Amino acid sequence: MNYPLDMATILVVGLSCLLVFSLAIFVVLRRRNLFQLHSWNIANAAGALLFCLGLLGPYVQHDFLSFFRNCLGMLAYAGFVYTAIILLGGRPPVRRWAAISGAALAGFALLTAFSAGSGLRVLVTSIAVALIFAEGAWQVRKYARRSRISIGPQVIVAVFAAASTFFLARGLYHAYEWANPALVDGISGLVDPLSLLIIVIIFMTSDFGLLMILMAGLEREVTSKVLEIGGSRNKLQILYNAFAETVGAVELDALVPRILDFIQSTLRVDALSLLIADAEGTSLTLVGHRGMSDRAIHLISNPDLDSSLTGRVFREAKAQFVPLASYPPGEYREVMEAMGIATLGNIPLGEPGHIVGILTIGFKDAAAVDSDLVALLESLGLQMGAVIRAANLHVELDRTNARLKELASTDALTGLANRRAALAALDREISRARRDGTRIAVLIADIDHFKRFNDLHGHECGDYVLAQTAGVFAETVRKSDLPSRWGGEEFLVVLGDAEDKGSGMLGERIRSRIEEARWEYEGKSLSVTITVGVALCPPEAGADWIISQADEALYRGKASGRNRVCLSMPEFTPLRAGSFRAGETPADPAAKDPVADLLPLAD
Ligand code: GH3
Ligand code: MG
Ligand code: MG
Repeated sequence: MNYPLDMATILVVGLSCLLVFSLAIFVVLRRRNLFQLHSWNIANAAGALLFCLGLLGPYVQHDFLSFFRNCLGMLAYAGFVYTAIILLGGRPPVRRWAAISGAALAGFALLTAFSAGSGLRVLVTSIAVALIFAEGAWQVRKYARRSRISIGPQVIVAVFAAASTFFLARGLYHAYEWANPALVDGISGLVDPLSLLIIVIIFMTSDFGLLMILMAGLEREVTSKVLEIGGSRNKLQILYNAFAETVGAVELDALVPRILDFIQSTLRVDALSLLIADAEGTSLTLVGHRGMSDRAIHLISNPDLDSSLTGRVFREAKAQFVPLASYPPGEYREVMEAMGIATLGNIPLGEPGHIVGILTIGFKDAAAVDSDLVALLESLGLQMGAVIRAANLHVELDRTNARLKELASTDALTGLANRRAALAALDREISRARRDGTRIAVLIADIDHFKRFNDLHGHECGDYVLAQTAGVFAETVRKSDLPSRWGGEEFLVVLGDAEDKGSGMLGERIRSRIEEARWEYEGKSLSVTITVGVALCPPEAGADWIISQADEALYRGKASGRNRVCLSMPEFTPLRAGSFRAGETPADPAAKDPVADLLPLAD
């Protein structure tokens, strides 16, 4: 059979188009490595080869050649259908097609071997191809609906359906031709070239449809990436805002409302509460809440770490969102339902191993919670945990500093204030007395013959008695008078707003209490006495001068027999130029008047 010239031209042009089209697709797929669609390239390559052989058809007639052409056809058609399904995210039934194609080709080979007419052979392979296209059309329609891509799949479904119909008609025609060779003689010369033309059209439109699906898929991917980037930016912005909102607050009391307000306003949650763990991580305590009913607040304020969901999230350090309907029936669920909450989440604050608290969040609309929101809340949880931890460390640092300060101003043996703290207190009292126009009294006491006491009972016993004596001071004077250990066995008390006799009476009270006190040490009953010097001065005299006056009174007490209180109320005259230097006792004898009173001793 010979093609009419124009038909041959059309076929050559068609083949050229198909080759160029296939090559372009091959290049695109290779360059971009798109979905690794080798099946598409294989289909195009097989199709192109099939046409080369098809054009040889009128000149080379061989059974093997036509078997090979049928194999190529099967491969090309199945390749297109396979690619279409893969592009739509479906799973092609490869095994079924292999079985159908294999059976058809085997039938083709058998019929050839038994020298049956070519019409029957074509019928068998055409029906197999029609079946594959029909199933392809059906499957593409199904997956297109699922992936919600429309235009490309519509073209493909139309092409596959038309191809299926064409191959069915082609098979039937050849069967008919085989049965009635005389009837169809007139048109048989046109059937083969027409078939080739239609097959070219099937291949080209398949390529076109597949390209449209590919583009729709790419467009969707780009759109989702753009949305994803927008979402990430939004998320970053929220995290930054949360950071900016909380970074300045180092006190937990200031931080908690900031965290709650930020989350409530940014994420539009309906109810939330913040629980902070104790330092050992053995309990959680409610420190703040928004939108919770009184009953809810009461219920969540101290959750049981072993049995509650909050406790589990705290232990496992993993955020959880649970619909309220899946909570076990009970008071908790009832209370949350009464607030209209549909979904409740617990978000750990901090990183695993350093969870500092739990944020409980309730939404009235269950649909408000999606994986993006949970991821954002988890990130916020990490960030808030770090901020709360910093605040906790700050509190701890404050506490440590206060303790250090206390240690630095405390005498280790007696627990009284030390000399440094005593001097600071004296300065404070002097300033106050200056402001108020009052006088100031300083009382210095010294244990009598303490050296002898040590020699007699040992140094350790001396330490013990020293501490007990200090205890009497602490019990007898007001804390605000700041009893202190001034030196070895000397004590100093600063009395602000002192009256003439009052300070002397206080000295006497201390003295008599110590004299009466008896302390047991290693079976011995021990006691000591003290001598007390009290100086009552105007604040203008300054700390050194006041202390020297108290010392002097003490010295007089010692000199006059010990175990007594001496009071000095010197007049302080602002010193005349040149008569003395700062810190010295004034030289003016009139200003000294040291012995104002010698208190009677208790008998
Ligand atoms: P006076 O009545 O004149 O004050 O006689 P005194 O022996 O107490 O005076 P002195 O200043 O000569 O001796 C003070 C003694 O106090 C010397 C020391 O053994 C004792 N002392 C000072 N500090 C401590 C201390 O921390 N522990 C003990 N056990 N003894 C101390
Ligand atoms: Mg002494
Ligand atoms: Mg002494």
